[in-house]
Amino acid sequence: MSRHRNVRGYNYDEDFEDDDMYGQSVEDDYCCISPATANQFIYSRQERHAPREEPLEEEEFEDEAVPVSPTVNHNLSPLDQAKLYSCLDHMRTVLGDAVPDSVLTQAAIKCGFDPQRALDAVLSEDTKTAPVTRSTAEEIGTVERANQDKAPQPQRTKQEAVADKAKSRDASHNKLDSEVLPKVARMTVSGKKQTMGFDVRSTGENGVVVTATEAASKRPETPSKGSNGDEPVTGPTPSRSSGKARQAINIKAELEKRQGGKPLLNLVVIGHVDAGKSTLMGHLLYLLGNVNKRTMHKYEQESKKAGKASFAYAWVLDETGEERDRGVTMDVGMTKFETNSKVVTLMDAPGHKDFIPNMITGAAQADVAVLVVDASRGEFEAGFEAGGQTREHALLVRSLGVTQLAVAVNKMDQVNWQQERFQEIISKLGHFLKQAGFKESDVFYIPTSGLSGENLATRSSVSQLTSWYSGLSLLEQIDAFKAPQRSVDKPFRLCVSDVFKDQGSGFCVTGKIEAGHIQTGDRILAMPPNETCTVKGITLHDEALDWAAAGDHVSLTLTGMDIIKINMGCVFCDPKEPIRVCTRFRARVLIFNIEIPITQGFPVLLHYQTVSEPATIRKLISVLHKSSGEVLKKKPKCLSKGMNAIVEIQTQRPVSLELYKDYKELGRFMLRYVGSTIAAGVVTEIKE
Ligand code: GDP
Repeated sequence: MSRHRNVRGYNYDEDFEDDDMYGQSVEDDYCCISPATANQFIYSRQERHAPREEPLEEEEFEDEAVPVSPTVNHNLSPLDQAKLYSCLDHMRTVLGDAVPDSVLTQAAIKCGFDPQRALDAVLSEDTKTAPVTRSTAEEIGTVERANQDKAPQPQRTKQEAVADKAKSRDASHNKLDSEVLPKVARMTVSGKKQTMGFDVRSTGENGVVVTATEAASKRPETPSKGSNGDEPVTGPTPSRSSGKARQAINIKAELEKRQGGKPLLNLVVIGHVDAGKSTLMGHLLYLLGNVNKRTMHKYEQESKKAGKASFAYAWVLDETGEERDRGVTMDVGMTKFETNSKVVTLMDAPGHKDFIPNMITGAAQADVAVLVVDASRGEFEAGFEAGGQTREHALLVRSLGVTQLAVAVNKMDQVNWQQERFQEIISKLGHFLKQAGFKESDVFYIPTSGLSGENLATRSSVSQLTSWYSGLSLLEQIDAFKAPQRSVDKPFRLCVSDVFKDQGSGFCVTGKIEAGHIQTGDRILAMPPNETCTVKGITLHDEALDWAAAGDHVSLTLTGMDIIKINMGCVFCDPKEPIRVCTRFRARVLIFNIEIPITQGFPVLLHYQTVSEPATIRKLISVLHKSSGEVLKKKPKCLSKGMNAIVEIQTQRPVSLELYKDYKELGRFMLRYVGSTIAAGVVTEIKE
């Protein structure tokens, strides 16, 4: 099964500024991407405010015989297809490619699309046919644990999570690499994606009917605004904390004072599996003094014992036993380090294709990216070509709003620091990145060796390299990135990426503040479930603070709400100006290099911030001209690769969204289908 091979060949226009627009061109052959025409595929700022397409009336779509999307011969309704693909995605996260599609599909259907039951079914089939070895038994145990982890169970305490990790690590020491099949992805809590917290029992009027208990907890999903548009008419009355008097602060002035005035930069590390991402960043952290010599020595000893001596630096970031066992990064690791002028939150994203959804979570929160490519002959090409993650990662981060990119041309030691090889990679990659929407002036190439440490924290002194390279080291480049503009003045928004029970009263959520700021004592609203709670504590990089602002990855201690109601993907917001929650919205999408055309009812997985939610393309509204935004065709029968279109999306359960024009960060999403990213989009209209 080859996945992620369909996302190729964007054409972005470098003449346009920033990340306000994007577009794509897709050619049959990804190796020869069509030359970008200047105005192609652009989502322009003006058009956002005055969309050229005319909204079509609802009725126009009713009763019309539009071909529905192709399915896998199971005569499933679109909603069931969505459930099937969601279930398959979950199963693949655990099993990887080890089990054929047909087996997974059968199990999923048999088990009513319940991923846990379906996994159990597949695995118990396996154990019936294969002798149960110690390792398979262990794996099944781990899968069960993984499944338990996957269920929304925010009650796990930090200690339990750590103990769980330790258990998995111990077990993994006893396993040989060859025993690690089927591939088991035991996601750690922080990087795990999960769907929103409402189950849908059956389809109804708009495709969604919720159970009674949900209806109770969901109450007014979309808080209707009062006539003045200020306060939600229903739902809890927002109020400031009655306890401690809360002193209003001048957030801009405070931000300038904080960290010696150093702005925060969220950096994601991307690239093909084995390009050397973890080694490179682990070594950089070591050189910066973030890992002490004793710990490093311990990693060296342990990795040597495990027969993986070359992974010692990678172990700095690859924390879980399983990651070490498989030698790949599965979760999005997060660490902090400082440069001369910035405080950097580092996210090390998984390179393996099975973990792209985790990578999207990381990339959605990033300001800038380091793309690591392996300079070794054949390896760069493998990562860059079909099935490799170099292209898909670069496209994903660009689609998710990252404009500045450092390319670490890594393992230069393997090619004797040859300038020709460096140039060859630059020219192949440069051409692609330009068409992917990166401006040439915002992409910086640095020859590095993660293993030997050359050109990481300081400039290299290797004469073979200094004879032709006198540019910046990786750290200098990270320092030189432009600090992002934050939406500090907008109403507060934080998208939950993790929930856990800490000691003491209340519970903790983590996530990136996308807009506004927050102070201890603030009342904030969670959407869903449309309930308020009080912020008891704020932690940023393990430090307790009184306030935090847009751009900060924080942990909040909350009281006055039941932890059970909060899931990943919930958005905490200002109760006076809440985020909207809907199951139906319109969006401008950009179709990637898909094989099957998208038709009405096409099932997709909507990846949005930390949410991954089954959805369907409810209506195909119009096809737009890629540059002018002019409507080329209303009510198209299908959408094919490279098209720019307006579609209406129906999610299975309510999701919190913003219009792209109001909050860029919360108005972007990706659509995936059977493990491939098929489109990127921006929200243009929220329906209900
Ligand atoms: P990731 O999957 O991208 O995180 O890659 P890892 O950091 O796990 O590295 C994969 C393998 O490449 C390990 O065996 C590393 O020791 C090796 N490696 C990483 N960087 C370099 C480098 O600069 N030079 C050489 N020769 N090997 C490297």
